[in-house]
Amino acid sequence: DADLRLSRIASSIRVIPDFPKPGIKFQDITTLLLQPKVFRDTIDLFVERYKDKGISVVAGVEARGFIFGPPIALAIGAKFVPMRKPNKLPGKVISEEYSLEYGTDRMEMHVGAVEPGEKALVIDDLIATGGTLCAAMNLLEKVGAAVVECACVIELPELNGRKRLGDKPLFVLVKAA
Ligand code: AMP
Repeated sequence: DADLRLSRIASSIRVIPDFPKPGIKFQDITTLLLQPKVFRDTIDLFVERYKDKGISVVAGVEARGFIFGPPIALAIGAKFVPMRKPNKLPGKVISEEYSLEYGTDRMEMHVGAVEPGEKALVIDDLIATGGTLCAAMNLLEKVGAAVVECACVIELPELNGRKRLGDKPLFVLVKAA
């Protein structure tokens, strides 16, 4: 049942204090990936939610959206589109700047990967402030796609990322303290 699956997912995530900097509690999903049954349950919970919703694009955010996005895309019959760090994609790109705790970063997507009118789902491992997911949504909306929802394995509710997404729905499996 879903609750049992969710509690197994929650307990499979390793928390590493003070990584990569003092004060950050890093939510490490690599320990989830070591348990095939738990990894499968994670993918299944997203697939059960998003199959038959007319979603044609799963956009995965570098780097850990590249782990969860592709199996979901294959299972629901959608294309997978990588949303990458600057200067990684070889073709023509559109980009979106976004703010980090210190300074700014840029996210890039290949031009032509997504057509106007497509229905997209955005996937990452975790939402903290929501800045990363907002940048991904902005890129998709710039090319005329409709973002149906953002989905993450983990939410850090204290950072109010959900509020930053505005009226865009966010679906998460696990909330971390
Ligand atoms: P944000 O843009 O603030 O929502 O940050 C989300 C992005 O940063 C995601 O791509 C996460 O993988 C990463 N991230 C932020 N905080 C953490 C954390 N405590 N543990 C693991 N990853 C994190």
